[in-house]
Amino acid sequence: MMKRFSLGVCVSASMMLLGCGGELLDAEAQQPELEVLSEKPAGAAASVTETASDFRFRTANRYAGIHGYAAGFGNFHEASYAGGVVRGTMLLKPGTVANYREVYRSQLGNTALSNIPELFRRAQDYGNLHGLGIALPTFEQGNNGSGVVYSINFLHPSVVEFRDVPGWAIGYPNVNDAAAMMRAANDYATANGFSAGLPTFHSAVYSGTQVYGMHLIRPGYADFRDVLADVLGMHDRFSSDAPTVSAANWARTLRRHEAAQDSIQTCTHLTNLEKSLLRGAYRKNVHHTGTTEAGINARAEVGGDDVWVNFGVLFPQGDIEIAQTLIHEMMHIAGYTHPDRRAGIDHPYDGGPYYNSAPLRAELCIAGYQSIHSTREPSREQHSH
Ligand SMILES: [Zn+2]
Repeated sequence: MMKRFSLGVCVSASMMLLGCGGELLDAEAQQPELEVLSEKPAGAAASVTETASDFRFRTANRYAGIHGYAAGFGNFHEASYAGGVVRGTMLLKPGTVANYREVYRSQLGNTALSNIPELFRRAQDYGNLHGLGIALPTFEQGNNGSGVVYSINFLHPSVVEFRDVPGWAIGYPNVNDAAAMMRAANDYATANGFSAGLPTFHSAVYSGTQVYGMHLIRPGYADFRDVLADVLGMHDRFSSDAPTVSAANWARTLRRHEAAQDSIQTCTHLTNLEKSLLRGAYRKNVHHTGTTEAGINARAEVGGDDVWVNFGVLFPQGDIEIAQTLIHEMMHIAGYTHPDRRAGIDHPYDGGPYYNSAPLRAELCIAGYQSIHSTREPSREQHSH
């Protein structure tokens, strides 16, 4: 992808009052960078890699983590609404995970992450051997210096009821079809009063009846949410610079990006094309770095894939301001720019070249105003230039 190094320095909505003091835009960058779309067509469905099964476990578990849950997994149901594709996401409440282990892949039969049924079986064997509980792999991997490790959550046995479910009750799915088994476990569990279900991926014939092992999560231990596929995908695509972005700041950044994405659906302040390009920006591999540059809340690479966030300045301003700033920066990532604000000439809602630009209108999606809040203006002006 062609990279642009002109940086849209944006001081969050607010700073716009000051004229976005360090916006460095070259003439070319003044035009939306439509070529970035050739790589990932705007409005296209989530990419093929996102439908890969282990992706659904991994992104749901990361989503769960930033929302205060102990673990999460996709139930492999999805639906398409006007606002986009949503995926059924099961969220396990705090306290449900008894043990967490990073286990050498070699101790799990060198099973590939993509082989969900086998990894579940191997992980449960490991859990049984060590008395750890009910295995729920996160489908995350790392290397601890001595080899590749997979991380696995083990649920408290008291959270789960085991049943051998007869095949006639769930349509005799192929035990090695991860998606079919996950849906079968989910549907059986919810139809029988449980909050979620996980297959053991073992099947056997007892007394002439084929049965499937199921771990049914008891009522009250899991929540269900339909989550935008783009929001889940963000957890795989977005990254942060560990030395300059704390875990807490990163989690909050992702939550506010999520709010920004949720707002696109109903926002009346962007055209369909602008929404499409913004969604396209959210499908990029966007890297986030902390900055302490004076006078800015954040900046972004126009048409690129880098965002810098001044956490110490922006985050104390609150969730609305953070989301407004992030959606503004993502409009820069989408290729949109705006002229410098002209002091004394440009005013909120004036329909002029600054406040009516796409990044500024995107801010309206969050809370209906352009981040011009009288009580915060003075502090913003202190950050001027
Ligand atoms: Zn800007």
